[in-house]
Amino acid sequence: MVSRVIPVDPFDLVIFGGTGDLARRKVLPALFRRFCAGQMQQASRIIGAARTDMDETAYRRVVSEAIHEFSPSTACEDGTLEQFLQCIHYVTVDAMGEQGWAELTEKVTSVDRVEAYYFSVAPSLFGPLAERLQGHGLADRRARIVVEKPFGRDLATARELNGTLARYFDEGQIYRIDHYLGKETVQNLMAVRFGNMLFEPLWNSQFVDHIQITVAETVGVGGRGEYYDRAGAMRDMVQNHLMQLLCLIAMEPPSRFDPDAVRDEKLKVIRALEPVEPHHIARGQYEADPDDPETHPDYRTAVDNPRSKTESFVALKTHIANWRWAGTPFYLRTGKRMRQRSSEISIVFKETPHSIFGEEAGRHRNVLSIRLQPNEGITLGVTIKEPGPGGMRLIDVPLDMTFADALGADGGESVDAYERLIMDVIRGNQTLFMRGDEVEAAWAWTDPIIEGWQNRGEVPKPYASLGSGPDDANNLMRRDHREWRKI
Ligand code: NAD
Repeated sequence: MVSRVIPVDPFDLVIFGGTGDLARRKVLPALFRRFCAGQMQQASRIIGAARTDMDETAYRRVVSEAIHEFSPSTACEDGTLEQFLQCIHYVTVDAMGEQGWAELTEKVTSVDRVEAYYFSVAPSLFGPLAERLQGHGLADRRARIVVEKPFGRDLATARELNGTLARYFDEGQIYRIDHYLGKETVQNLMAVRFGNMLFEPLWNSQFVDHIQITVAETVGVGGRGEYYDRAGAMRDMVQNHLMQLLCLIAMEPPSRFDPDAVRDEKLKVIRALEPVEPHHIARGQYEADPDDPETHPDYRTAVDNPRSKTESFVALKTHIANWRWAGTPFYLRTGKRMRQRSSEISIVFKETPHSIFGEEAGRHRNVLSIRLQPNEGITLGVTIKEPGPGGMRLIDVPLDMTFADALGADGGESVDAYERLIMDVIRGNQTLFMRGDEVEAAWAWTDPIIEGWQNRGEVPKPYASLGSGPDDANNLMRRDHREWRKI
């Protein structure tokens, strides 16, 4: 499949925290791949800016190593990496002090073009960076800032951060990243919903029995123990990624595919979410791997907090109080150290009102599954007759649209979420970024749930490493005569 790549105008991208984990693992490899694809032009500049004292040559080495390590299979013509490295610059900058700002300002203002500032640093530096950018005259209309998660840890801190950023930048200059929104399948979800006549008429409580959203990881907290134990699955995953997916599933058709039209509709969904009853939530902490407890210890050991009450798993049921969805439950589930790495949204339709094939044909439901990972794709389960003689036996088979199969070996243009999102920043398209009011509304829904746990002193239940979560999660479904999709 031949894909059209439209080059973006040459730009400057300053990566604060350019030597950090996220920059090396995601941002720089993503830029390299866009360079290889011809979308980023040679005249563009990527300026690493971090506290580490190093010169441009040393930073180019850091970038080259990051690309070899994290993007080893990018198919490029010989010499492309060397050309890309010519676009790389470095300035030693202290976000909390004056070091490096004069040099950075001179570098950036010497050329007139789009300037993007990627805040790939600890959240405590977001405010100081915004203030300094403005103080050095860099917050003008060409400028845009990219803000990483976490965006606050509750409504109060998110509001404060929004307030701080708003002092120096307009909302139209602020790009709050949720990389789930940059995934090909997530955008395809919108194409499937709003580009086909087939689904939208059925997309409501009259035809949909329930919706499940699962984001399961096999990894534990790894080296992020300290951060994670202060956050937990609710703050780290549900408040942002799962809620964003829920919004795209549940929102009304926007009038246009443009930033505010889409984000207005998402916001309405969040505001219509009902509070979650305590008995509609299951929380868990993973146990040690019995075969290898040294490498994979239990959650509390991994975060070095023997009395931790933070959840590494959460499952909950919620409802959306509007005409489209009244009566259709949404089940959300996410956890670490689960059996499989899997992110999937499933729209489970109702059974037919009457079976002409009799009881023996069994009960069948169509399920539309949108897989974000692994094997991005969309599957529609349909009921057909089992081939062969012997009567009318019904079976469910998938109509499978795994992108890799349907669109060629690499799934068409296999673009990583960060590639798409960074290019959108340069093009000035905010559709796939969270607006300030959306983030605040998401916290306003999440906060009472977390406060409830704290007030009741609730301790998460243990669950087996590489299992499917605590029993409470299964009971949540069983009580409703439903079951989770297999992971
Ligand atoms: P990191 O600790 O690996 O890197 C931090 C970077 O900030 C380094 O380059 C460091 O030199 C720089 N820095 C620290 N203090 C500074 C100062 N005073 N002035 C200038 N630079 C300074 O962190 P990370 O894992 O890359 O995370 C960066 C941000 O991205 C965080 O907000 C994190 O929550 C977010 N994030 C990270 C990941 C990930 O996978 N690593 C995923 C999602 C979000």
